[in-house]
Amino acid sequence: MNNIQEIYEKVKRRERISEEDALRLYEEGELEVLQQLAHQIRIDKHDDKAFYNRNIHFEPTNKCVYACKFCSFARKPKSTAEEGVWDFGTEELKVQLDKYPVGALSEVHITGGVHPDRGVDFGEELVSFIKKERPEIHVKAFTAVEITWMAKLSKLSVAETLKKLKKAGLDSLPGGGAEIFDSAIRRKIAGGKAPADRWLEVHREAHRVGLSSNATMLYGHIEDYSHRVDHMSRLRQLQDETGGFNSFIPLRYRNENNSMSNLKEVSLEEDMRNFAVARIFLDNIPHLKAYWVMLGVEEAFKALDYGVDDMDGTVDDSTKIYSMAGSIENPSLSREYLTSRIADRGFRAIERNSVYEEI
Ligand code: SF4
Repeated sequence: MNNIQEIYEKVKRRERISEEDALRLYEEGELEVLQQLAHQIRIDKHDDKAFYNRNIHFEPTNKCVYACKFCSFARKPKSTAEEGVWDFGTEELKVQLDKYPVGALSEVHITGGVHPDRGVDFGEELVSFIKKERPEIHVKAFTAVEITWMAKLSKLSVAETLKKLKKAGLDSLPGGGAEIFDSAIRRKIAGGKAPADRWLEVHREAHRVGLSSNATMLYGHIEDYSHRVDHMSRLRQLQDETGGFNSFIPLRYRNENNSMSNLKEVSLEEDMRNFAVARIFLDNIPHLKAYWVMLGVEEAFKALDYGVDDMDGTVDDSTKIYSMAGSIENPSLSREYLTSRIADRGFRAIERNSVYEEI
């Protein structure tokens, strides 16, 4: 096994590091050195550009057939409106879209609970509605877990489901539902929902049919570093095969209003270590995103120094998934604020579309 200095040198030579190397970086790497290494990699890849987009989220329902322990958002399928359940469709989607003049949005991101009765028809209806109303908007919709469920309800294969959604106008897949791939940990925190192999298979199929996607990792709960390395390693392997991932998004576990609230959240230093190791290890995924809604605004700007090149988007108070878990209430950042704060940190703010073409 390489000692830590040898691993640093390997990274400087831009050699791919092994899983053992990554584990050692997590365990023994000095944060300052990890920061410098990750920063240099992001500069090589993207110079001083820091990307963002103008997006909103649409969460059609918080009813969910699953009960992941870390989740603060979902409600049981039989819950009532008084218990905080919603079921939205195209009517509510239109209200959201109508808030924005043509050209003010480049992306609608759709994810939500896994609704017991909504198959692929519902997905097609939402996607085609956006394309009819606003053909210029990129539709990034449905996690691999939601796709798996739609396919099952509609008695279709995953490939058939993806093709139908693509035909309706789906442009790409978000990275949610990955959580942590290790089967024992996944069973404990997200028992029942699509296992790791299925999550990866949905993304493999998506890439095959011409839909790019993102990938997430939920960290800072009951996993250890070896589970994080295993998770990223499986993503790196799939990316070698398909090249279809645009960005990797580490998501810090937030501990309010869920069944794991007894766990403490990880420190800011741990967040930064995680970003840096991810940037070093995932040499083939082009972008590393700090999702400020979940991480916190200040924390996300700080992460720009630890390998991050993407700040997600304006979001505009359109998501409840993380605010219900104790993250930012009414999450919204203006374009002006995003760009000026990025500049304050010495980077160049670049507006992008969902597949990272500069606008
Ligand atoms: S994380 Fe997703 S699948 Fe799990 S309970 Fe929450 S909404 Fe449902």
